[in-house]
Amino acid sequence: MNDYQAPADLLKGKVILITGAGDGIGAQAARTYAKHGATCILLGRTVSKLEAVYDDIVNAENVGSAGNAEPAPEPAIVPLDIKGATPSHYQQMTQTIIDQFGKLDGVLHNASVLGHLSSFKDIEQQEWLDVMQTNVNGTVFLTQALIPALEKADNASVIFTTSSVGRKGRAFWGTYAVSKFATEGVMQTLADEYQNKSLRFNCINPGGTRTNMRAQAFPAENPDTLKTPADIMPMYLYLMGNDSIDVNGQSLDCQPKR
Ligand code: NAP
Repeated sequence: MNDYQAPADLLKGKVILITGAGDGIGAQAARTYAKHGATCILLGRTVSKLEAVYDDIVNAENVGSAGNAEPAPEPAIVPLDIKGATPSHYQQMTQTIIDQFGKLDGVLHNASVLGHLSSFKDIEQQEWLDVMQTNVNGTVFLTQALIPALEKADNASVIFTTSSVGRKGRAFWGTYAVSKFATEGVMQTLADEYQNKSLRFNCINPGGTRTNMRAQAFPAENPDTLKTPADIMPMYLYLMGNDSIDVNGQSLDCQPKR
């Protein structure tokens, strides 16, 4: 589905929450979903970055299904640091989504931190806890809180973001890799629980992509050799839109293995 060509109005009428929407892949996904008609809820920890994505969206012109120019739906901004957020923050946010929009059609769980790469024996306890808090606990409690809003939509799609090190462990990547194994486990559990229901759960593996996180992991790499976030959007669109309505419990790659 990496050559998927989304119709211009694929996400028209849908309300989609994107975490880590201020930078990297999350920012590009928000712009892309809005361009395809979605009302995007931009969740992140750095307000200035979220505002820049908001501006990009409201200043862009969408091409509607009839080929005419239409403004993108106005996004909403939710400033939230997942590391410090509690289940009650997520529940309050969900109630606001239900009050304002009546439903939630999709979630892209994209926010993550890498932590430091180190040998397993040198992993620092506090960093382990911080990475797990953002990458795993936050994702779990946010998902739990959002389910009532997702159940109000006809065919909601929840996308978790994995990594190749979340499928096969790799030396020195311990903390991040284990957080992504957990992400795959959360997705599989939910997909099994919600089989044949209106909710579907899948993972997406972007593969090496030109972002700050990738540069942090591979500082010596030439970024020009990497796909950009825009290049990998076909899979993000496919999994979020109704063309993937029968896809549940899958972990899909945006790029062939390098
Ligand atoms: P990125 O450029 O570092 O962006 C991550 C986003 O998450 C940033 O907007 C960041 O906010 C946000 N974030 C981090 N911690 C947060 C917190 N506690 N609360 C709220 N927001 C938080 O990373 P990326 O490369 O786009 O990665 C996106 C996803 O793809 C991640 O799940 C990553 O693990 C996965 N992935 C990436 C690659 C790759 O090659 N890039 C490969 C495999 C998987 P700030 O802007 O405020 O820092």
